[in-house]
Amino acid sequence: MNSQAVDPIQVLEKARSSSVRFVILRFTDILGAPKGVTIPIEDLPEALETGKWFDGSAIEGFARVAESDLYLKPDLSTFTILPWTHGHGTTAHVICWVVNRRGEPFAGDPRSVLARGMERAARMGYSYVVSPELEFYLFQSDGDKALAPTSPDAIGYFDLATDRAHQVRCEMVDTLRTLGIPAGPGHHEISPGQHEIDFQPADALRMADYIVTARLVIKHIAQAHGLHATFMPKPMEGRAGSGMHTHQSLLRVEDGGNAFADPEDDYGLSSLAKAFLAGQIAHARGMCAVLCPLVNSYKRLLGGFEAPPYVSWARINRSALIRIPAIKPGRYQSTRIELRSLDPACNPYLAFAVMLAAGLDGIERRLPLPPPVEEELIPMETAELEARGIQRLPATLGEALEALEADEVIQEALGPLAAERFLEAKRLEWAAYCRHVSAWEIERYFQVY
Ligand code: GLU
Ligand code: MG
Repeated sequence: MNSQAVDPIQVLEKARSSSVRFVILRFTDILGAPKGVTIPIEDLPEALETGKWFDGSAIEGFARVAESDLYLKPDLSTFTILPWTHGHGTTAHVICWVVNRRGEPFAGDPRSVLARGMERAARMGYSYVVSPELEFYLFQSDGDKALAPTSPDAIGYFDLATDRAHQVRCEMVDTLRTLGIPAGPGHHEISPGQHEIDFQPADALRMADYIVTARLVIKHIAQAHGLHATFMPKPMEGRAGSGMHTHQSLLRVEDGGNAFADPEDDYGLSSLAKAFLAGQIAHARGMCAVLCPLVNSYKRLLGGFEAPPYVSWARINRSALIRIPAIKPGRYQSTRIELRSLDPACNPYLAFAVMLAAGLDGIERRLPLPPPVEEELIPMETAELEARGIQRLPATLGEALEALEADEVIQEALGPLAAERFLEAKRLEWAAYCRHVSAWEIERYFQVY
């Protein structure tokens, strides 16, 4: 729980001078859904002192633990005033650690899971830095009624929309930046109605906080414009899915230098980076349920639309699971590897925790890196894939859960409680899907058989 030291007196003073009236104490459940309790600013000192009590048994993935009495302990380095509340009960938020009555980290708190991983990396001399590309769709919304499966525009990749979608996305980026979130470029994605907002590199714990906030902000701003933003990985058959490709590097704690860079290497990668990459290849199937957590996630990973169906790495090939982005000569500090399986429905704390653990396992066990696969894999025959030792990502959530159960490194990264709670929630989801008789089945079979 390595919060940056922040002086509570300064935070309280800032709150007073900005007339803050309320503070939302935030955390996430095991699935990454934002939760929070709003307290009057007068109660913040007490929350800092003793933590704010809540009933953990009411929260997904926290349930049925012997200790349902849990406490929220604000991480003051995340204290942010929400500018849109100015003048109507000005409100701030602060992201919290979840602790038990003894003040120890609660093992089911996703933020603590990632913090534990970050501490392990720090002991090895590294900080884990990530920059995600968050993709999402904007749909026409009709109040609470069903969404029309149409999009507010009819343009594609990098097109400059003349309609309001462009305006709305700029407002999203602007708001995120006002909150101190390093949202960088935004652009239109491949399919009509699909957008992407990129984030500048940051420490993975900070970035997980940012992603949870960004998903909230994006949804709220869309709503204010009569639109619906969805991070569902494959909202429409036959159109591109939404991913959350994430660029990753390890920086040396001692001097901040990029430990992945080796300008002499063909791929610009150090042997440390290659071992990290090999670790993510080795655990690609085991971590998939965490990175691609919905039944729907696997419809995106079937192939096509530049989403990766196979476990491979490459420099150019955009259907590869891990891509090595080209860097400008001399800009070695930006050396990174881009993991492309994860989607925006993931819990970013757990996702970054398992990605880091997979990479560190590769480093610790000095795993050898398989050769890159630059050619298009989609048309390859199964026999050829097998001959070359190229695995598929799991084809369904059910298969991904089995792969997670078989991967001790990934389960250890989550810790026993979070692993058990995550698996339990996801097995229920998978079973519910398997039981469901869909409209597709009725249409296809009802008359014919
Ligand atoms: N939307 C694609 C995906 O599902 C990726 C497109 C891109 O390369 O940005 O991963
Ligand atoms: Mg993209």
